[in-house]
Amino acid sequence: MKVVQKDDFESLVNDLIREDPREVVGVQSKDEKFVFDELHDSEDLRLDYDVTILPPKKYFMPQKEIVLEYSHADGDFDVNPVNEVESRIIIGVHPYDLVAIEQLDKVFSDVYEDENYLEKRKESILIGVDMQNVSDWCFAGSMGTATTDSGYDLMLTDLGDKYAVDVGSKKGKELMEKVESRNATSSEIEKVEKTKQELMDKFEKELDYSPDELPYVLEQNYENMEFWEKNSEDCYSCGSCNLVCPTCYCFDVDEKNELDMQSGVRERRWDGCLLEEFAIVAGGENFRENRAERYRHRYMRKGNYIYERYGDIACVGCGRCGSHCVPDIADPSRIFNELKEEIEE
Ligand code: SF4
Ligand code: SF4
Repeated sequence: MKVVQKDDFESLVNDLIREDPREVVGVQSKDEKFVFDELHDSEDLRLDYDVTILPPKKYFMPQKEIVLEYSHADGDFDVNPVNEVESRIIIGVHPYDLVAIEQLDKVFSDVYEDENYLEKRKESILIGVDMQNVSDWCFAGSMGTATTDSGYDLMLTDLGDKYAVDVGSKKGKELMEKVESRNATSSEIEKVEKTKQELMDKFEKELDYSPDELPYVLEQNYENMEFWEKNSEDCYSCGSCNLVCPTCYCFDVDEKNELDMQSGVRERRWDGCLLEEFAIVAGGENFRENRAERYRHRYMRKGNYIYERYGDIACVGCGRCGSHCVPDIADPSRIFNELKEEIEE
């Protein structure tokens, strides 16, 4: 573990902004909330944030992107894949978002290797930061995602006037060569551990049991339609809970023809399983027409389906869904806890 003085880290960030060809993005304050956005000065960086509106997955899986262009002018059909990749240094990723990115890496390299996602990932550097502040909705402490020892190139822990820095990759090591650093002392290493332990007392919300039990709890409640109907009664099917989630990766695809019908593009954009039209298939059949079934599907995916396929609980406890749901029915910690009570009754 290394130690870097905060002044030196800020100088490094400014040097990267001014001299490095890669785009430098970091967490900044915007309208009393926090967002990942392009950095123009290290002064704008807010590593003390609680949670960002959108997770950093937007840099690897943009809200919408063209993935193909085609033309058939003069009878020749020409198709070309499109992948706009920008190299980026992303500063200030919280552990739960790093865990979520590791999950997406698995998904996008599974049966079909998704070059549009994987190339963007390959061209990125992730600088994580341990949480200093916790949003009212976050329950990462009980999901095992409040800290992590993987998924980053560098990981910072705030130690007052300096950062402890854990180097997680060759790319991270190369970055560290650009800044003055020294080895951490044993008391600094102890302080990092203590900081991580103290963080656990800051979470207002929690899962009342081990996340390992979630697949079983959800499976046992699959047919509990009374529960799903009662809890989804006020759902607007707005899809906000899906769109802010760091582990949601569903997308829809559109073909957009030019007016002359000689060329066009294929565009993909985020989709969400809570949206009414999400499960409509050719012929107009909607196999999850019922709102309660869509609502149930989201929780099944988070705590059961993804686990069955990849061994991951696909809720990292960031709390974004709960905070963005107007009728306040999307907080997974409450739903998961109540589901456990349902099978204990
Ligand atoms: S954010 Fe709330 S209202 Fe909107 S789809 Fe999700 S659960 Fe329903
Ligand atoms: S389901 Fe909600 S709390 Fe869980 S990872 Fe997604 S947005 Fe965060």
